[in-house]
Amino acid sequence: MKASDLAALRDEPACAHNQQAAKSGCARPVPGAAAGGCAFDGAQIALLPIADVAHIVHGPIACAGNSWDNRGTRSSGPTLFKLGMTTDLNEQDVIMGRGEKRLFHGIKQAIDQYSPAAVFVYSTCVTALIGDDLGAVCKAATERWGVPVIPIDSAGFYGSKNLGNRIAGEAMVKYVVGGREPEPPPVDPARPALKVHDINLIGEYNIAGELWNTLPLFDELGLRVLCSLSGDARFREIQTMHRAEVNMVVCSRAMLNVARKLKERYGAPWFEGSFYGAQEVSNSLRQFAELLNDADLRQRTEALIEREEARIDAELTPWRERLRGKRALLYTGGVKSWSIVSALQELGVTVVATGTKKSTEEDKARIRELMGAEAHLIEDGNPRGLLDLARTYQADILVAGGRNLYTALKARLPFLDINQEREHGYAGYQGLVTLARELTRSLESPIWDAVRRPAPWNVLSSFGQKTVVGEGGNVCELEKAHG
Ligand code: SF4
Repeated sequence: MKASDLAALRDEPACAHNQQAAKSGCARPVPGAAAGGCAFDGAQIALLPIADVAHIVHGPIACAGNSWDNRGTRSSGPTLFKLGMTTDLNEQDVIMGRGEKRLFHGIKQAIDQYSPAAVFVYSTCVTALIGDDLGAVCKAATERWGVPVIPIDSAGFYGSKNLGNRIAGEAMVKYVVGGREPEPPPVDPARPALKVHDINLIGEYNIAGELWNTLPLFDELGLRVLCSLSGDARFREIQTMHRAEVNMVVCSRAMLNVARKLKERYGAPWFEGSFYGAQEVSNSLRQFAELLNDADLRQRTEALIEREEARIDAELTPWRERLRGKRALLYTGGVKSWSIVSALQELGVTVVATGTKKSTEEDKARIRELMGAEAHLIEDGNPRGLLDLARTYQADILVAGGRNLYTALKARLPFLDINQEREHGYAGYQGLVTLARELTRSLESPIWDAVRRPAPWNVLSSFGQKTVVGEGGNVCELEKAHG
């Protein structure tokens, strides 16, 4: 990728970080920075949920292993995306300059065996450094086999995971969007006069199937989701994204560039929103109605919100009673740093602190609005610091990403996974009930009583003696229990 193209991606004007006077663009990568996810990693996790595409990682096998399927995203149909594909370059291939040839054969194998709707080829550090011409190979393969082969120029050393998300979005806008016109909207026989509007969801990954909590709401309102980039998406849906009337960016900064470019090229307005918590779902639905400027839709949206909020309120009542007075320490990033605060507060849980490592200035402002000016914002969530905070603020539960699971368990603190590896979908009105149920399950699990009891070897033995075990398991003292 040309240095000027990379600089343009880093300086995404729609990103709030770049709107600060003293800040221009994302930080350039420093050695070791890829430990939290490199640009390749970001590009692949952003596009991997596209279910009917063959995703080929052009590089050493470790790159594919690094990022493949680490998001709990679901598909309602094809499962081709679940198949890890790589050109598996070794030293000999690099020395003998066989990278491009291996890639060409790899693409052929994927097309012959799996008949994908398209092939996405991701470059990695090694193949970018040896100068393999990804674009030329993809172009030749497209012409040869008549299947779209899309180059995703995403070498890990280009920068962070977030930059990789943007690279992925850029490739979709450049090579895929606009490739096909959508079918005319189907006429609902029960509502033949209903005006159907086309929309896109950008940055929605259908984690644990949570997209399916919100789709019925859109259906009911007559909003046709042309494409959800990229949860449960198909290649042909991405081709029609240019026809949406409004775009919603669901996950903070990831792929903001897609929304901005769709507005610049096709005039569709966009907004950032969230589906976590009943209030946020209602706000997002209202935003659609507002931007679509349809009085009938506005009215139907308000009626749906009123009905759903009342239904959810009744369903949540028993859970709220069990969660009353509970305190949660939240450590997540981006838009979730405030939207999950809002969802937890709706359940009656007090959020004692929240992580803001990947949050924008707007995200932080929303947090302060929700938690008050004294809100404790966690910039660096190292395990020791998190546990100290949990103790200081008397948190009952840690709500964080999967990598913090063992931090919590070792401290005998209940834990709820909120990030991409989770098993449960928390989006939509129904997702809030699932969140309440999972929080309660974790907090009320009998395991906490068991592990917090003194160890058996620290209680009275049948001989009336108490054995005290020192560090490292050595018996350091025996004391008489009865006089
Ligand atoms: S692309 Fe580079 S930084 Fe990323 S996993 Fe591969 S070698 Fe590591």
